[in-house]
Amino acid sequence: MAIRNLRLDEDPILRKKSRPITDINERIKTLADDMLETMYQAEGVGLAAPQVGVLRRIITVDIGEGAYVMINPEILEQEGEVVDSEGCLSFPDVTGYVKRPKKIKVKYTDLDGEDHEIEGEDLMARCVCHEVDHLNGIVFVDKLCEPTEVNYEK
Ligand SMILES: [Zn+2]
Repeated sequence: MAIRNLRLDEDPILRKKSRPITDINERIKTLADDMLETMYQAEGVGLAAPQVGVLRRIITVDIGEGAYVMINPEILEQEGEVVDSEGCLSFPDVTGYVKRPKKIKVKYTDLDGEDHEIEGEDLMARCVCHEVDHLNGIVFVDKLCEPTEVNYEK
């Protein structure tokens, strides 16, 4: 395993769309291991491959309930809206409020090639949506909203 360099701020790779993964080979497995290590070292809760310079559809997530490696993640359903504070390892100087679904259902393939469908709420939903955005070349600084939109009832 190895720590990979994080792509930051105005790096154009962060604005590009990632390609689906068709073959879960050793390179992808090494990438997943490295992404987890890089994410933990940076104390992040999620990471997407473009953030380490690889335009492939793979994300890692760990909100404190165990690690997920999601290959070709796809958000099938979303419900509700929550505005909450968010940050990103690629924008270390920025935090801000972003509107995300309260609850999602996401489909993905794991490193063994098994397909899964799981539901996530609150931070898990926020994190998966944030990382899937990265795969589509969308970064959270594009989605910042005013603090006045904070939903205190969440
Ligand atoms: Zn991010």
